[in-house]
Amino acid sequence: MKYYSPDQQVITETHSQGAVLDLSIVVPIYNEAESLPSLVSAIANAVRETNLDYEIICVDDGSSDGSTQILMNIAEQRNDLKAIILRRNYGQTPAMAAGFECAIGKVIISLDGDLQNDPADIPILLAKLDEGYDVVSGWRQKRQDAALTRLLPSKIANWLIGRVTGVQIHDYGCSLKAYRAELLADMNLYGELHRFLPALAFIEGARITEIPVRHHARQFGQSKYGLGRTFRVVMDLFTIFFMKKFLTRPMHVFGSWGMFSFASGIAVGIYLTLVKFIFQQDIGSRPLLILAVLLVVTGIQLFCFGLISELLMRTYHESQRRPIYRIRDIYGRR
Ligand code: UDP
Ligand code: MG
Repeated sequence: MKYYSPDQQVITETHSQGAVLDLSIVVPIYNEAESLPSLVSAIANAVRETNLDYEIICVDDGSSDGSTQILMNIAEQRNDLKAIILRRNYGQTPAMAAGFECAIGKVIISLDGDLQNDPADIPILLAKLDEGYDVVSGWRQKRQDAALTRLLPSKIANWLIGRVTGVQIHDYGCSLKAYRAELLADMNLYGELHRFLPALAFIEGARITEIPVRHHARQFGQSKYGLGRTFRVVMDLFTIFFMKKFLTRPMHVFGSWGMFSFASGIAVGIYLTLVKFIFQQDIGSRPLLILAVLLVVTGIQLFCFGLISELLMRTYHESQRRPIYRIRDIYGRR
């Protein structure tokens, strides 16, 4: 995929052409005007000490406070910053996805644009990744946010996500994370899914770890979120749960339950038939009859639903040529 600037010059080419830098740092920006100048230089300072070829990608997510112009000015002055300007405000996850899509680094690091994450932690994440992980997630051990409205819901959400996905990390919501690019190339983001990237990566077979990172109180501007996000996150969690459980074998799940329900319905039906014809009792008013009918109908519906899901999943995998497995490495004969 190629990205064009307004004058139709190709400004970037994505993964499919192969990564050409060591590192891309992706930052979603929505009304962070005051933070921007120090943010960009703090990132650059942190990365310079690693001697890697890097790019900073700031994605302006439809800001209305002048961030866009500031970003464009900084991008003009520096050669390590790519500013991607979205047409309107789409939300943090789409903004990050846009950045990931344009990134050409072998490793991709994401962080927030409000200086709550500390760019000085970037080298620490990179070192951890080098120990042989595919994803390193930051853990805001001393998080500087409101206790009741932010920390508590987040604690519950993290616990839930851990239980459902089986990935035991403490802080899904921390944006400061490092990924191997090939992993992100395979993933599609929707809703508030950016926080589930480690879980999605885990489903794809990635090696995941976490590392404590610094966290600062917001200096400028204000948080874009309130309690409402918690509910959206929980809804997304259902999606993830579904993906993890059913993605490649929906018929196994729905089919089995369908068969079970159908068979129980038939069994109850046989029992009622015997009662009617052998014991000559009236069964027309028995709740059991309704149960039998319900079980049979539900069974057939579950079965059909399984078949339809199977078709959908096949379309999903085959239309994108997504294999049902992921190879980590191939050794030996090229
Ligand atoms: N953000 C964005 N689009 C949005 C909302 C937020 O790009 O619609 C960015 C925002 O500029 C920041 C990051 O996402 O860089 C996290 O947002 P925020 O700091 O408000 O979240 P919090 O730290 O309060 O969870
Ligand atoms: Mg923040």
